[in-house]
Amino acid sequence: MHLSPVGISKLCFLLSLALCAFLMLLIPTLQAPARQGDLPPPLPRPQLRPKPAGARRGLGAEVLPPGGAHPNKTTLSQRVTLATSPQTPNERTAAELRSLQGAEDAAAQRRYLGSRSRDPLEPKDIFLAIKTTKKYHKSRLELLFQTWISRAKEQTFIFTDGEDKELRKKPGLNVINTNCSAAHTRQALCCKMSVEYDKFIESQKKWFCHVDDDNYVVLPSLLRLLASYSHTQDVYLGRPSLDHPIEAAERVKSDGSVSVKFWFATGGAGFCISRGLALKMSPWASLGNFITTAEKIRLPDDCTIGYIIEALLEVSMTHTHLFHSHLENLQRLPTNSVLDQVTLSYGGFENRRNVVSVGGVFSLAEDPSRFKTIHCLLYPETEWCPIRSHP
Ligand code: UDP
Ligand code: MN
Repeated sequence: MHLSPVGISKLCFLLSLALCAFLMLLIPTLQAPARQGDLPPPLPRPQLRPKPAGARRGLGAEVLPPGGAHPNKTTLSQRVTLATSPQTPNERTAAELRSLQGAEDAAAQRRYLGSRSRDPLEPKDIFLAIKTTKKYHKSRLELLFQTWISRAKEQTFIFTDGEDKELRKKPGLNVINTNCSAAHTRQALCCKMSVEYDKFIESQKKWFCHVDDDNYVVLPSLLRLLASYSHTQDVYLGRPSLDHPIEAAERVKSDGSVSVKFWFATGGAGFCISRGLALKMSPWASLGNFITTAEKIRLPDDCTIGYIIEALLEVSMTHTHLFHSHLENLQRLPTNSVLDQVTLSYGGFENRRNVVSVGGVFSLAEDPSRFKTIHCLLYPETEWCPIRSHP
């Protein structure tokens, strides 16, 4: 067959057209398959639902830094808003996600989402230490047995300084006689804290919380607060009693010629420490070392805890407004937020009765500390709580 040069170029042109068309048809199949995971699936946006009538008010727990504290951290990034009114586990998750989506704290979100993948925190994971003394067994402890301790017997440990047969007779209570002196001295109080620490380490529980015998612990709020942190990380939660860090001569790491500044959580409002952090405190806190450390810096038990954590371990305290002592004006706590707090107290403040303002259950004469009223508002089914008529 003879082809002219013109014929050959026409044929080549037609062949290349056909090849192009064939290649174009192949393009979609030659493209690399889309890689899964390039883009994260969007977070489910929970539906906003109106709060059911009669549901417990918002929990609205907040952990806030005090003004001027830790200048290297911003106020907003430290703000953590916790869940509100969980009803079922799913609703709870939705509510918690919702509040976290509004929060600007990426670290809090990571911490929270991380904690969801672990086992949920249970009441039995908390070691609740109460510091008391023999003379307050009747006048202070009885009220706590009647109220919040009755809901947390297994995880509550009473650290006292004298044998009391009546106390031993009470079923299910963990009473530890520290054999420390009954005096209100630095040495005696540090002796008790030292035993509290050792017993916590022995207990294998996830969180150590310390309170005084004039504190009411709102257990659901405490559980919620701790559940938003990891017990394996370094967490020291409490309320500073001062608006500035305390300064002390450094006599542990150096000879006392230099001073250190650190925050501490006031013991009278209670504080909590994660197990991870508590284990790191061991060289200065375990088996009597706590007393030696406190003696070196010559400060009380709660300051010594702050010193070990902030000054020696360089872990920052997380400041929270959810813990309360009678050193603050308790009347100023808004009534509708009282049950959302983690600890409450009662006592004298500027020579006046200093109690939280909650009403409606018992009168001030019947319940001068307001603890019974708080307890009946939290647990209205308690047998000694007055039966409330429903409108
Ligand atoms: N406390 C103690 N030994 C004492 C006096 C008090 O262990 O000799 C305890 C008391 O039981 C409470 C804490 O120390 O748990 C604080 O005592 P208090 O409330 O009387 O004093 P404040 O709150 O004014 O420091
Ligand atoms: Mn007190």
